[in-house]
Amino acid sequence: MKDLSIVIPLLNEAENLPVIHRRLTEVLQPTGLRYEIVFVDDGSTDASFQEIRTLAQHDKAVRGVSLSRNFGHQVALTAGFEHSQGEAIISMDADLQHPPEMLPELYKHFQRGYDVVHAIRKDGEHMSVLKRKTSVWFYRLMNYLSDTHFHPGAADFRLVSRRALQAYLSLPEKDRFNRGLFAWIGFNQVYVPYQETTRHAGKSKYTLKKMVYLALDGIISFSARPLQLSFFAGLFFGCAGLLYALFAIVMYFRGQTIEGWTSILVTVLLMGGVQLVVIGILGEYLARIYRETKNRPLYFVKDATDAVDPVLASPK
Ligand code: UDP
Ligand code: MG
Repeated sequence: MKDLSIVIPLLNEAENLPVIHRRLTEVLQPTGLRYEIVFVDDGSTDASFQEIRTLAQHDKAVRGVSLSRNFGHQVALTAGFEHSQGEAIISMDADLQHPPEMLPELYKHFQRGYDVVHAIRKDGEHMSVLKRKTSVWFYRLMNYLSDTHFHPGAADFRLVSRRALQAYLSLPEKDRFNRGLFAWIGFNQVYVPYQETTRHAGKSKYTLKKMVYLALDGIISFSARPLQLSFFAGLFFGCAGLLYALFAIVMYFRGQTIEGWTSILVTVLLMGGVQLVVIGILGEYLARIYRETKNRPLYFVKDATDAVDPVLASPK
């Protein structure tokens, strides 16, 4: 058993690996903790896994698993958690945006008895305006829609205790929206601010499309409120239609018929639009039920630095 596991999912981060390994070693070695660094290669097409192998040959603390393809950041994180052995587990990015120098502070909170220590990003100037704004809107929307509390700036840089991790791993869902799941499990949680820095090398792997899907996952997996809202939208438009009908009937008996082309067209388009949106929302929930019922494994392991059978290393 180890004292501390560092879980790092990565996609095409070969240039960053030696740097993050060096910075982590500089921070962790003086602490005297028994630690391991678990790299999860999320289907990289560059030399990332060779790099991990080289690191593992020189440093016993380094372990690596390579997934059979790109399964996405959240699933890669889950894979890393499943392969970690520490009493405390810290997840962080490979691009050095999460400063390794924060780790002793996170660990101190764990020693004080906290189970989930969220590192909270203080907004820096280095972030693009678009990313900052979308992040603010997203957390506001999430907290409005969901009963679980989402702390703004809490992403995937956090420490969890073994018992919190066990609780998390017992959650069966295939949509791994980790920041929501870790907020949901409860236990003793605490928030610690940190200053994010710019990416060391390479480009962000979160395209706009991936961000939109992550946000959708968060909303749909943590709230049924869009379904309620579509009911109220239906109610609203139904009532508006009824009022308009009454108005038209009254006008008819007063001898004035309302001329109708424009109003019919507008009503039909509006109703059509609302109905399609509502069906779309229903469809999102349905698609997720479909995905859950297929009950496929979350990922497969193609290769590992440990002398284990990769197939056995995949989840049951
Ligand atoms: N990542 C991953 N799989 C993906 C996308 C990203 O493992 O499909 C990793 C990436 O290599 C990095 C972390 O997730 O270690 C965060 O991604 P990134 O830094 O690109 O996101 P950003 O900081 O721009 O939000
Ligand atoms: Mg990053």
